[in-house]
Amino acid sequence: MANIAIVGAGIIGVSCAAFLQRDGHKVTIYDPLPPGEACSFGNAGSIGPGSVMPISTPGIVRQAASWITDPDSPLWIDWRYLPRALPWLARFIAAGSRPRISGISKALRFLHADSFEHYRTLLGVDAKSLLHVSGQLYLYESDAAFAKDALGREIRAALGVRSEILNSDEIRQLEPSLGPRFARAVYLPDSGHCSNPHRLVTTIAESIVRNGGRFVRASVKDFEQDAGQVRAVITDVGRMPCDRVVIAAGAWSQRLAGRLGLKIPLESLRGYHVMLPMPETAPKRPLYPLATKIMMTPMENGLRVAGTAEIAGLDAPMNERRAAALGRIAKRYFPGATGEPVSIWMGHRPATPDSLPVIGPSPRHENVMLAFGHGQTGLIGGSTTGLLVSDLIAGRKPIIDPYPYRTSRF
Ligand SMILES: Cc1cc2nc3c(=O)[nH]c(=O)nc-3n(C[C@H](O)[C@H](O)[C@H](O)COP(=O)(O)OP(=O)(O)OC[C@H]3O[C@@H](n4cnc5c(N)ncnc54)[C@H](O)[C@@H]3O)c2cc1C
Repeated sequence: MANIAIVGAGIIGVSCAAFLQRDGHKVTIYDPLPPGEACSFGNAGSIGPGSVMPISTPGIVRQAASWITDPDSPLWIDWRYLPRALPWLARFIAAGSRPRISGISKALRFLHADSFEHYRTLLGVDAKSLLHVSGQLYLYESDAAFAKDALGREIRAALGVRSEILNSDEIRQLEPSLGPRFARAVYLPDSGHCSNPHRLVTTIAESIVRNGGRFVRASVKDFEQDAGQVRAVITDVGRMPCDRVVIAAGAWSQRLAGRLGLKIPLESLRGYHVMLPMPETAPKRPLYPLATKIMMTPMENGLRVAGTAEIAGLDAPMNERRAAALGRIAKRYFPGATGEPVSIWMGHRPATPDSLPVIGPSPRHENVMLAFGHGQTGLIGGSTTGLLVSDLIAGRKPIIDPYPYRTSRF
């Protein structure tokens, strides 16, 4: 059994560590932050086995052009950062062609289909309070908007995702918290949510430590390399020998992969959330109005309104205006949401141009495994990623075909 260093204590790092520990490996997780304090802290909590659409789809350029002048739109680009983002954006647009999205959606379906089941394996009794197969509603304000989204329905149906189409009366019956704004909805009964994504990560991390794993508050700066292998991680608190490394450092993984001579296109798609006091009539499930692309999810501690994609790099400060806009939009949908925002948050989605993560061995170092780039669906993909990484390290038949997530596609 190996001594494995896992870099990053987000949902991906802890899922990998937990499955590796179940195989009998000695795991040490390195992170300068406590578990689950970066992007995995504040996501929308959506766990959707039926979330199969990539971000880039046919028509993305036209749609983005209509948003770009609106500071509250679902997408915003900091013009000062644009020259650095251009190569990534070019690949992002190319990934949205019709022939490519069929393959991408299929790979997302494989990664997401059994998300709940694999989290239950890791969580045991805690699964009951954290995971909810509550269904999800994709909402449309007009029949025309519904018609425009036909491609999503076509792809989900082709991949066997169960769904029902609802009219405005049926929407109100299912979700009395909503105002009368929506004409149509797609109901995904097998999807649902996690009611506290931060507690999900800390619960898994605590069980790893209880079972003899280690968590070290340290930043990995480099790797000691010898004859095509990494022999130790070099951290800000010293050199730590290891037999294997898993790089799961979210949006910061590109910098670490760069130390190993790998060039992987990874961009931070910054997103925001605002927490509102729960409206008197609380929503029962994640609600997703496609016009604004925000997700509104009932959490343990209030209503979370999360969304927007902002391209401005890892170092720019948070734009509080974008978070406040989310709260204003949500109040349009929930007549009962009258309270003022309780908190705001910004996080870095680790995004590849084709919306698929990189999962698999490094082409240059046989004892390094890469597990990052889950973009907008890292919570959904986390548990299966952990299992896949453990299968690949064990040399077992992998739970899903790892080919679509290979590093060499870039
Ligand atoms: C607004 C918003 C809403 C979202 N909603 C959803 C959703 O509903 N469903 C869903 O599936 N996904 C959602 N996501 C995406 C999801 O949150 C991410 O894909 C996921 O959290 C990524 O997990 P991670 O472990 O890769 O990264 P992170 O959680 O960011 O963890 C990476 C960790 O690596 C550490 N690290 C970085 N550099 C180093 C280093 N040098 N040494 C050691 N450690 C290091 C960091 O400190 C961090 O703790 C959303 C994201 C946002 C922003």
